[in-house]
Amino acid sequence: KLDVRVLRYMSSEEFRVLTAVEMGSKNHVIVPTSLIAQIAGLRHGGVNKILGELAKKKLVAKVKNSMYDGYRLTYGGYDYLALKTFSRRGSIYSIGKQIGVGKESDVYLVADEEEIQSVLKIHRLGRVSFRAIKAQRDYLQNRKTASWLYMSRLAAMKEYAFMKILHEHGFPVPKPIDQSRHCVLMELIDAFPLREVIEVKNPGKLYSDLMDLIVRLASYGLIHGDFNEFNILLKEDGEPVLIDFPQMVSISHPNAEWYFNRDIECIRTFFRKRFGYESVLYPKFNLDVNR
Ligand code: ATP
Ligand code: MN
Ligand code: MN
Ligand code: MN
Repeated sequence: KLDVRVLRYMSSEEFRVLTAVEMGSKNHVIVPTSLIAQIAGLRHGGVNKILGELAKKKLVAKVKNSMYDGYRLTYGGYDYLALKTFSRRGSIYSIGKQIGVGKESDVYLVADEEEIQSVLKIHRLGRVSFRAIKAQRDYLQNRKTASWLYMSRLAAMKEYAFMKILHEHGFPVPKPIDQSRHCVLMELIDAFPLREVIEVKNPGKLYSDLMDLIVRLASYGLIHGDFNEFNILLKEDGEPVLIDFPQMVSISHPNAEWYFNRDIECIRTFFRKRFGYESVLYPKFNLDVNR
């Protein structure tokens, strides 16, 4: 869970040590205490005390290894560092309620100093498998945590890059605002997920808008890969906005046609079940994409 309270109670020395753990993580799954002291430029005794405090706040975790004692960064510590960066850049001033809990992310309403609201998506890969590997040996678990942080960062970077390019090319997606580590900050879309929409004025119009969007993306070389009622927000004026991009694939991907057809089929199934709407018209990968 994201705990904003710890943000206020950190000394500059604690921050220095936390940053040292992050830097050490680039080359070590478990960062040796001596290396942390060296990076932070503090005495060994002083560092131990501060690491103990950071561990109590669950920002780092102590790891006993057969070779040496050390620490690893936790999701809590990684959250802290990202939030600190957003706050320093003026992108985030306050954190509001959680608006989404996905399998692979936590989504929060946040605001800057002018009280302009935006959306913070924190990628959390590996959360499901955490429980499954609990029983496994410590070292393995620590190794996995380290690589999940890394994978989550990659997902955030990928999502931000896709959102930026799509927004710049006029696709209906949220405007990306900032990115740090495993987090993406984006425009808040005032809309409901299609999943929660019981009735629309003109299902045929929305259906063809969505099919057009899939084809437009493909003409641009991309397939969303998770194009469904959870990832489409419907504005009051009836315009759809697409979200959730880390899984996007290129139309030259070996399984591109399969992903493309699955996106189409998701929409067709949803419209049939929810609105009783079915059309004989739908885009075909070979005809509409590989023109
Ligand atoms: P899943 O696990 O289902 O794949 P996810 O973890 O990938 O989800 P998103 O789909 O990106 O996360 O976001 C989760 C939810 O948060 C969305 O369904 C939507 O309700 C809300 N949300 C995300 N981004 C925005 C936004 N820019 N504006 C408004 N609401 C948003
Ligand atoms: Mn826009
Ligand atoms: Mn989603
Ligand atoms: Mn997703």
